[in-house]
Amino acid sequence: MELEEALDKVEREGYESVGLQGPAGLKGEMLEIAEELEDRGVEPLLLAEATFGGCDLADHKVEELGGEALVHLGHSPFYLGSGEVSGDNIDVLHVPYRLDRDFVPVLEEEADRIEEEKLGVLTTAQHTENVDEVMEWLNENGFDAVRGGKGSRVRNEGQVLGCDAGAALSIKDEVDAFLYVGSGKFHPEQIARHGKTYVLDPVQNNLEELEALSQDEYLQQQYARVLKHKDTENWGVIATIKEQQPGTVVDYVKDKLEEHGKNVHVFVGDRIMESDFKGFDIDIFVNTACPRMVDDFEDFTLVNPEALNVLDEVRD
Ligand code: SF4
Repeated sequence: MELEEALDKVEREGYESVGLQGPAGLKGEMLEIAEELEDRGVEPLLLAEATFGGCDLADHKVEELGGEALVHLGHSPFYLGSGEVSGDNIDVLHVPYRLDRDFVPVLEEEADRIEEEKLGVLTTAQHTENVDEVMEWLNENGFDAVRGGKGSRVRNEGQVLGCDAGAALSIKDEVDAFLYVGSGKFHPEQIARHGKTYVLDPVQNNLEELEALSQDEYLQQQYARVLKHKDTENWGVIATIKEQQPGTVVDYVKDKLEEHGKNVHVFVGDRIMESDFKGFDIDIFVNTACPRMVDDFEDFTLVNPEALNVLDEVRD
C-alpha cells in the first residue's frame, strides 16, 4: 500500500487515533506523516523504538493505548507459519515506502563485472517496483534474467527477508548467479549462502560480488560454537513475545538440550539485548527469536536451534 492510500484509508475509516511505526532510517519521514495525520484530524501515536522487520509490529502496544490502527512503514506483510498474516488484532496498514531509483546507469557502467549469463533477480520491499526495469535491461543486454519466486514469509515474487531466502531457493537450480537489487549486506548475505551473489546497490551506485559465508560454512561456524560448550551444564534459551517472529521451537530446543543432560532456562523478552543476560551465570544461549541476531552477542555464545544437531553426532 502506498502512503497516500494508507492515509486516505485512515480518514475513510474515521479512525481517531493511529499508531505510527518505522525503521531507524525513516524517523524523519515519521514526523512528516504524523503532521499529515494531525492535519486530517487524526491523533498520531508515535513509536520511538525502531522496528526491525515486518515481524516486529507494535499492534498490541497501539491497541493498549487506544489506537484503532497502525501504520507500519518500511516493510511488507509478514506471513506466519500458519499462512496467516501477522498483526490482525487492529487494522495494520503496511507502507513499504518504495524507493524510486534508476538502476540503469549503474548497470550500463558496471554490468560487465557479471561473469554469468543466467541471473536470478531478487530484492526487498523497497525495490520490488524496480525489478522489472532491471530485468528488462539485463534481457536486452545479453543476460537471461529470471525473477525470484515467493518466499514463505512474504508474498511478492523475488522479495527476500533477512530470515527468508525462499525467493532465491525457488530458482537456485535455474540460474548461475543471483543479482540482488538493493543496498546493505543484511539481505544479500542470506542469499549468498545459496550461491554466487552480485549486489546492485543504489546508494553506493555500484555493482559488486558479495563475499559471504556459504550455507555449509555458516553451519560449521554454528556447530563449532556448540561443540565448544558440549560439556557446559547450564544453557539458556531465548524466546520472544513477538508472536510474529519464528519463535515456535522453544519446546523442541528445551527437549533436545535436556535429552543431552543440560539444565535449561528459558528467557522471554521483547527486545533482546545482550546486557539483559548478564548475571545469570550462563555462557551459552539458543536463540529462537530473529535468526539473524545470532552474531549480535559479544560476551556470550549465541546459536540458532539447527546448530544443536551437532550434539547428536558427539553423543557419548
Ligand atoms: S525475523 Fe529478523 S530477519 Fe526476519 S523479518 Fe524479522 S527482523 Fe527481519
